Amino acid sequence: MRVVITPEEMYEASLAAARAGRRVGFVPTMGYLHQGHLSLVRAARATSDVVVMSIFVNPLQFGPNEDFARYPRDLARDQALAEQAGVDVLWTPPTEAMYPTPQAVTVDPGPVGAILEGAIRPGHFAGVLTVVLKLFAIVQPRVAVFGRKDAQQAALVRFMVRDFNLAIEIAVAPLVRDVDGLALSSRNVYLDALLRPKALALPRALARGVAAFRAGERKAGSVIAAAWSVLGEVEGVTTEYINVIDPDTFLPSHAATPRSYLAAAIRVGPTRLIDNVILGEGIEGDVRLGGLSE
Ligand code: AMP
Repeated sequence: MRVVITPEEMYEASLAAARAGRRVGFVPTMGYLHQGHLSLVRAARATSDVVVMSIFVNPLQFGPNEDFARYPRDLARDQALAEQAGVDVLWTPPTEAMYPTPQAVTVDPGPVGAILEGAIRPGHFAGVLTVVLKLFAIVQPRVAVFGRKDAQQAALVRFMVRDFNLAIEIAVAPLVRDVDGLALSSRNVYLDALLRPKALALPRALARGVAAFRAGERKAGSVIAAAWSVLGEVEGVTTEYINVIDPDTFLPSHAATPRSYLAAAIRVGPTRLIDNVILGEGIEGDVRLGGLSE
């Protein structure tokens, strides 16, 4: 595995790969890697000749009171995991290299960027899409792989690629859960032995929504109410939103269908967690560590 630092080095490496007729697959991350990230590498590997992973904690997508400064970082460990997973080029640009001058032009994520995560984290998706566009411009991938864990982000990246005519295929990989059902996230490290059991109310709530759907509920409100009731029972958990989302428009919908997402965000102590499930597939449709599908 080759490690590159500057945008210029990365650009040259990609250009050389393209000249050699090799297809570049790209996995952007913020590091502190887990099996969710590594599953994206395997997905990229399957359709590319060269797999590039970036590790960049993007200040532009964090609000002033968010966890940018304390976001977990461990480059040595990440490097070992990325190499084992089959990454060919690991790119770890410093902040000053990505933003040598204040970003004068940013991407407007539009109406979908203003709801759900965007309503709670103003400016978040403008920051995400701006850095993703910069990363795409430097890596020049043929395919980029995102995780369904961040379903709204994946939808917005798809919209950006479509609306700006970028010649990049966007693949969305399945959501990977820990053995206990919690969606893997770098931020799970914030959960101590007291908070983690409370956090498990999130996948449990989504499963309850799926159960209501399976029992025949087709009104979004009824599915949401079923999920909400689980979260309401747990002390120390605050629900930020639970919504049934249309998979094509990524807007909240009144009708629950097998392809709809049931997406939720909660706060457990100081930590925000997000999760989602596809109603027709259920939590058991996701990848589970230690389970049969891993
Ligand atoms: P992050 O480092 O959190 O910005 O995530 C980088 C990429 O990994 C994004 O495309 C995420 O959606 C994806 N990802 C993070 N957690 C998971 C997970 N549990 N399952 C699948 N993909 C994930």
